[in-house]
Amino acid sequence: MGLVVLKFGGTSVSTVDKIGKTADQAIYEKKQGNRVIIVVSAMGKSTDKLVAMAEEISETPDKREMDMLLSTGEQITIALLAMTLKEKGHDAISLTGWQAGIETEAVHSNARIAEIDSSRIESALDLGQIVVVAGFQGFTSDGEITTLGRGGSDTTAVAIASALNAEKCAICTDVVGVFTTDPRYVKNAQKLEQITYDEMLELANLGAGVLHPRSVEYAKNFRIPLEVRASHEKEPGTMIKEDLTMENTKVVRGIAFEDQITRVTIHWKQKEAMRVSKVFTKLAENNIDVDIIIQGITGLGHGNLSFTIKTSALLATLAVLEESKELLQIEKLESEQELAKVSIVGSGMVSNPGVAAQMFEALTENNIPIKMISTSEIKVSTVVSARNMVEAAQALHDQFELDK
Ligand code: ADP
Ligand code: ASP
Ligand code: MG
Repeated sequence: MGLVVLKFGGTSVSTVDKIGKTADQAIYEKKQGNRVIIVVSAMGKSTDKLVAMAEEISETPDKREMDMLLSTGEQITIALLAMTLKEKGHDAISLTGWQAGIETEAVHSNARIAEIDSSRIESALDLGQIVVVAGFQGFTSDGEITTLGRGGSDTTAVAIASALNAEKCAICTDVVGVFTTDPRYVKNAQKLEQITYDEMLELANLGAGVLHPRSVEYAKNFRIPLEVRASHEKEPGTMIKEDLTMENTKVVRGIAFEDQITRVTIHWKQKEAMRVSKVFTKLAENNIDVDIIIQGITGLGHGNLSFTIKTSALLATLAVLEESKELLQIEKLESEQELAKVSIVGSGMVSNPGVAAQMFEALTENNIPIKMISTSEIKVSTVVSARNMVEAAQALHDQFELDK
């Protein structure tokens, strides 16, 4: 008997009717003779609604209470789905994160899974039950509820699949697979039949919201073949795996983009006193993630340092730097909001030095000013104005002929 883990996202369980369709998929897998685990997200946009309520109360809601609040979303779905399965004549049990044994590190709002004690899931499977697990949540060794970061139910599913050595793990969502770029914004985006873990990891980290980055990390580390497919359709989705079976002829495989990015610039008092490492140590101590970093020294001997952060971290970043302005020898702080990062990804880039030049040319031809650049072996990222983001993605999609 095979073990199958299926994950259904918010849109796929947004109504009682859709929960019924999700139950049918679980029953279908069971009837094929499989042991079945279903991981679900909160219904529709309910997590967003919970966040909005908390933000009515505070600009910076208490993180412990925030996890307590957000974890309720998934709990509603598991109960409704297990009820539906029973009503349809199949034994099922719903389990919250702690009941499913998902232990995380002691960090609120973005915890990593530390360990999974799958004994309760396994006993339920042994009884022939369909096991319905709440995505996105876990517990700490101190008995606190944690969440895994927005979109984290994908990671719950892949982590469970790896802990239990599942034959199959499918992420069922509102698109038929992973596309060359977000099909919601670029209409001629194409579905990919397959993509490597490394390429998918880059795309996910660079903003392709279709998969939570850590779920791809898990799949890669434990060699779990992952399928992304539409929830309630039969069409095969995209396989994410180690090697592609066909020769990959395209140098660029996909384009990712994200907005809500801010550039912070530090002007140093003197170029002899650039406390670069101290700045990043301070930011790290305050759990502020920094992305692209550029250091510059002008001919006049002035020095500056620019880096990007998520706009949501701007207040905290400025507070940390202002507080240590003297110690860090900062003359002036500037920030530019309303920026976006647009990136091209493909493993073929390693051996193709002209790709970056082609990217910059396409943006320039479309009159899109590039504000920052960062490269690695399999990706090139550019920071542009947020209002140019979709246009830039479209221009690059055309330039690298991803619609063909
Ligand atoms: P779920 O609620 O099922 O987890 P998400 O909204 O998290 O669904 O992810 C699916 C969405 O990801 C799609 O609707 C699509 O707009 C977006 N997306 C972004 N980049 C891509 C991509 N490269 N391929 C497919 N979908 C993408
Ligand atoms: N409900 C959570 C969110 O909306 C987790 C998830 O859907 O994966 O981010
Ligand atoms: Mg998601």
